[in-house]
Amino acid sequence: MQTHKNMKRSRLAWWQRPVRMMRRDYLADFSGLVETDLAAMARETKEKWHVNCEWIMATPGCSPGMGQFTTFNTPNFEKIPGLGDFDLLRSYLPHARRHGIKLVPYINLHWYSYDFAAKHPGWEQLLEDGTPYGRKRPLYGNGTTFCINSPWRDWAFALIREVMATGVDGCFLDGPGIFPKCCYCAHCRKLFGRITRQKKMPSFGDWSDPLWKQFLEFRVQSLVNFLRGAQAAVHAVNPKGIVFKNGGGYDSGCMVGSRDIARLAPHQNFTSAEQFYHTSEKWDSPYQTLNMARFLSAGKNPAVVFTHHTLSTWHYIPLSPAEMTSAIAQTVAGGANPWFAIFMESMPSRAAEAFEAVNLNAFLEQNEMHFTATEPAAEIAVLLSRHTAFYYRSRLKALAKMADSGKEQNLVMERAEQANRAGLAEQRKASTSILDNEYMGCLDALTFSHLPARVLWDEHITLKQLMSVRILILPGTACLSREQIRVLAQYVKNGGSLIATFESGFYDELGQPAERPEWLKLLGIERVEGAFEPSRKEEYWTVVDDALPAFPKNILLPRPLNGLKVRAIRGRQELVRYNNTLEHFYVNLQGLSPYPAAIYSSFGRGRVVYVAAPLFESFNRFHLADFRILIRALIDLVTGKAGTQIECKAPGSLAVELRRRPGELQVHLINVTSDMKRPMENIIRLANIRIAVRASGVKRVHALRAGKELPYQRVGNKVVFTMPEVDVYEVVIIECTQG
Ligand SMILES: [Zn+2]
Repeated sequence: MQTHKNMKRSRLAWWQRPVRMMRRDYLADFSGLVETDLAAMARETKEKWHVNCEWIMATPGCSPGMGQFTTFNTPNFEKIPGLGDFDLLRSYLPHARRHGIKLVPYINLHWYSYDFAAKHPGWEQLLEDGTPYGRKRPLYGNGTTFCINSPWRDWAFALIREVMATGVDGCFLDGPGIFPKCCYCAHCRKLFGRITRQKKMPSFGDWSDPLWKQFLEFRVQSLVNFLRGAQAAVHAVNPKGIVFKNGGGYDSGCMVGSRDIARLAPHQNFTSAEQFYHTSEKWDSPYQTLNMARFLSAGKNPAVVFTHHTLSTWHYIPLSPAEMTSAIAQTVAGGANPWFAIFMESMPSRAAEAFEAVNLNAFLEQNEMHFTATEPAAEIAVLLSRHTAFYYRSRLKALAKMADSGKEQNLVMERAEQANRAGLAEQRKASTSILDNEYMGCLDALTFSHLPARVLWDEHITLKQLMSVRILILPGTACLSREQIRVLAQYVKNGGSLIATFESGFYDELGQPAERPEWLKLLGIERVEGAFEPSRKEEYWTVVDDALPAFPKNILLPRPLNGLKVRAIRGRQELVRYNNTLEHFYVNLQGLSPYPAAIYSSFGRGRVVYVAAPLFESFNRFHLADFRILIRALIDLVTGKAGTQIECKAPGSLAVELRRRPGELQVHLINVTSDMKRPMENIIRLANIRIAVRASGVKRVHALRAGKELPYQRVGNKVVFTMPEVDVYEVVIIECTQG
């Protein structure tokens, strides 16, 4: 078995093995490269950056939109001025090859100058009023963008063929994108009309227009069609050439840009997205990269998370070593490949810290075997539904009301401006605000509780895929198809545990309200009466049962911002109840309402907890310990006597991720304990971390980064060991006999 699997691994293509990517960015000034020692550059790529796949610019991505120029020789496209006969791709390729570096040029397919656009009338993406997008909203301050349904697509495919003809291993497409409120050009109008047999197009964001959702689907499909064409262009020159484009994340922003990574996946080799670090005036989750890596790597393709090696918008200052190291560690722990872009004008002044920041790549290079074809091993899964991100618009109008901030200072209460938020677009906005916080809050609440989780896409809700899932969480997963509902009911019947929050499953996959009495019955809901108005004032929940070990009965908990008024089916176990609303400050408690906040049901071995609120949303917004502890307690409850897969005594700033490959279970530890702010400057080492993890046939436990054997004991069905010290990242390998 072992031999067979090893043979299988050795047949993996280069891009299916661990890939460490980088891009050197020179913006518009390539003149220095003509004189550069390219042999030394390739050596630096290998020996100082520890990278095995390099992007090199085939067309620049810089102001004022220079996507029309090439850095290599081709009779069909214009060369960037200043390079003369120098062909960057063909000159660098032999040096890259010598060091085993795969060359994947960057092709800018989204940013062009107004001059170039003027030479090609009809190519620009248009807003509804006919204005080109890039004239109203100049890209990065200057330049415009083209439509994937216009004849520009053939220009782009021809460019891709020319890039591949240089002999490189593949290409990365930066864009194209469909920009917000686009595209209403003549080509799109014609195509859309042919599909819908309607003359008009819907106004952007008009949720009352029956054509609106068809327009969303049309945009997604247009992007899929483009990528299919791009892949064909690559394969026409080199059938083994790879291609991928800048993808999308899991929040509702993917709807605006029509980026559906599952639909794009079959037409590209990697599933990738940006998770850049941006300075923010708000609290920033330290685990954003881990969450993105888990999401992207959930599909069949290898995944890549893009991290700019820059301090937010200061492109000529490298990202701090603590932030960059953590980003690489989180990327790999989440099952994805790391990537960074370094802006070369930062190097003369800050090379030392730039190299230090990617030092973790050396560890990944030396231990490649352990990062090859790993799989998630977590028993908890979280469905991050793109159907919901695309189409969720709650029908409950009360949710669109603005909540007061709840702040009082100098005898004055801060009150919310009650904008007129009655429109459908405002309802959508309120719904996505809940959802985006709910998704991030769910993954983070688990991480802060040391509960490893894997992400599932809509497509993964099948009985086969759910076989290895012990607890499935639906964080406000409102839009589910009838088939998904059927599978979930069967999963519970088969003994699986389900935790669903808020309006999970109340709508079909296109966001239409769905009447589903059987689904409500599974959740323990007799009927839904409506929503509470969002409130950040002091409202409460009360624990009304003894089943939650973390909380005694009758203890008060803060009520989340949003909530539903539902009635429980008689006989179901109510764990937590809404208190009657107070509506004002400094008034006495008014007793319990009839509305349950958490309902527990069991069906044979299968268990269901329904939470009548987007609990994760409020965890993400307010970070209250009670929310996290309640989430943990609900998970412990559905886990039962068997206990959670892993126990770890550490602060929430240590993330634990479980992955496996044949013969080993891996415990990835990412320490973000730092100076209580981002950007992080210093990671504070953690000492003597005791970990107990369920594993059988254990032969050896060792810490890969520290290079240490770890003594271990068996306690019940778990192996227990102590990590003497955890710096920013460690991987504990638990070697097991083959099952
Ligand atoms: Zn168009």
